[in-house]
Amino acid sequence: MIDSLVRKNILALTPYSCARDEFKGRAASVFLDANENPYNTPLNRYPDPLQEELKKKLATVKGVEPDQIFFGNGSDEAIDLVYRVFCEPRVDNVVAISPTYGMYGVCADINDVEYRAVPLNDDFTLDADRLLASVDGQTKVIWLCSPNNPTGNALARDQVERVLNEFQGIVVVDEAYSDFNDLRPFRMDLYRFPRLIVLNTFSKLWASAAIRLGMAFASPEIISLFNKVKYPYNVNLLTQEQAMKMLADLPHINLWRATLLKERTQLLPAIAELPICKAVYPTDANFFLARMTDADRIYHYLVDRGIIVRNRSRVELCGNCLRITIGTPQENNALLGALRRFGSL
Ligand code: PMP
Repeated sequence: MIDSLVRKNILALTPYSCARDEFKGRAASVFLDANENPYNTPLNRYPDPLQEELKKKLATVKGVEPDQIFFGNGSDEAIDLVYRVFCEPRVDNVVAISPTYGMYGVCADINDVEYRAVPLNDDFTLDADRLLASVDGQTKVIWLCSPNNPTGNALARDQVERVLNEFQGIVVVDEAYSDFNDLRPFRMDLYRFPRLIVLNTFSKLWASAAIRLGMAFASPEIISLFNKVKYPYNVNLLTQEQAMKMLADLPHINLWRATLLKERTQLLPAIAELPICKAVYPTDANFFLARMTDADRIYHYLVDRGIIVRNRSRVELCGNCLRITIGTPQENNALLGALRRFGSL
């Protein structure tokens, strides 16, 4: 069923077969098949191309099956693969909410695919009907991000489900920030929606942006297509090992989560109270959007004091908005103190 959405050259592709694909299973101790150097164990060996041990472990943590998981060099790899697998350059198009994470548009440009940005409502909620009105016969993919970056809010489930039910192509729901709320994650609904791809990452709650590990959850058919097109050893051994360590340390992750959510509860109203803040928008993520009196001046004032936030004032619907990540209690206090002093300059 998915096949009709896939580019013809990808359907016909014979993927590269690497040494670690060809020999699998039986015990062996002499490896002379991959032109590796026999010294410097274990870094001399190519890593598992399909990261099977890591998938088994992640499957238990995320409540999915191992064959519903793809690992990439950051979620950005999965974003690019969506285009390379499904979108014929200069023929197909994609539809996305706006504003949202910039890489969906950048990857569309790189792959020479038309990108149709449809504005959210003024309060950053999703109007599924308006989004669907931009779909035509060449629309292969719809990009949704929930909680959305840079607005912070989760999209209403009924609107997302409407898109999933009405649209006959691929729907991506990027849930990079879903670990920071208690809403039902869309990966739990893969069985209901065979054309759904859900993105997650180790870069946010899992505090591992440096190791570059992103995930896509989808049907085994879609995962096989990603595996066919990806670079053979796209996730290195050090990353796989470090991810296993993080997955074994759930109590630590939960402690970080609780601390960040508590900080979020305290920081939002404190920022909202400042005379230089016009509005703080509700958030389901580890960051929030604040509309200020003069975002450019406040941004540069903070930079001068060594505090960096993201100036989003030139983004659609985000005039005079700063995007602020929740930091440690000390970092949040430093931000708050500096902003309070700005008022008295
Ligand atoms: N999706 C969203 C919504 C993001 O905000 C980001 C990073 N800021 C990413 C994906 C990229 O994640 P990764 O580090 O896994 O490439």
